[in-house]
Amino acid sequence: MELAQNIQAVRAKIAQAAADAGRTPGEITLCAATKVQTDETIRAAIAAGVQVCGENRVQELTAHLEAGAYEGAGVHFIGHLQTNKVKQVVGKVELIHSVDSERLLRAIHSQAEKLGIVQDILLEVNIAGEESKGGCSPQEAEELARLTAQLPHVRLRGLMAIPPVSLEIGSNRPYFQAMRQLFVDIKEKMSDNQASIDCLSMGMSGDYADAIAEGSTLVRVGTALFGPRPPMGTPRTDIHK
Ligand SMILES: *Cc1c(COP(=O)(O)O)cnc(C)c1O
Repeated sequence: MELAQNIQAVRAKIAQAAADAGRTPGEITLCAATKVQTDETIRAAIAAGVQVCGENRVQELTAHLEAGAYEGAGVHFIGHLQTNKVKQVVGKVELIHSVDSERLLRAIHSQAEKLGIVQDILLEVNIAGEESKGGCSPQEAEELARLTAQLPHVRLRGLMAIPPVSLEIGSNRPYFQAMRQLFVDIKEKMSDNQASIDCLSMGMSGDYADAIAEGSTLVRVGTALFGPRPPMGTPRTDIHK
């Protein structure tokens, strides 16, 4: 099956990129970006070795959870999250990648508190300063990181970024470098929970090898595993919203 071959190929490329950077492949998590995929495809991906699925839309997440489609894998939420939808996500996923405002952070915290759990989160940084995109500024990320230290029901695990669609090989490397530096800076400043800050989520189908070269610990890959997505009535650049 093509899907199994694609997974093999992506894993091999991850291993090669890691080796080239003097890293071990085990340091890098492959998160399959499953948006628009069916329950059946998700199950097939997990059967073929995918260990983490990343979901973008709350509606799809809920439907796949109800169908038990993720059984055997971890689930992350990687899409933009509205404050009024946190109930459908907090406690249902291992990691929320897209925390980018104090309001959202506090909403996640209060829902986690209600459930009596600790929700793992990443802060999403708009590293290229693109107007059309979610994510906070690097400065805000430092402030939000400090705030997490006062919120016992969230645990900061690291940072996430979605740089511009890479049109040229290597064009996103400066953004990945900047993210890596910010990650190191924030980790150093967080005296309390340094050990739990271990995730730098960056790199997608077009640029994950470069992201790994610059220190990514988790790559979110959709197209390279599942093939091109059907058009959603939105331009390609809007897919990652
Ligand atoms: C869709 C998506 C991806 C994967 O994108 P591909 O280019 O298809 O690999 C990664 N991250 C996020 C947040 C996404 O929405």
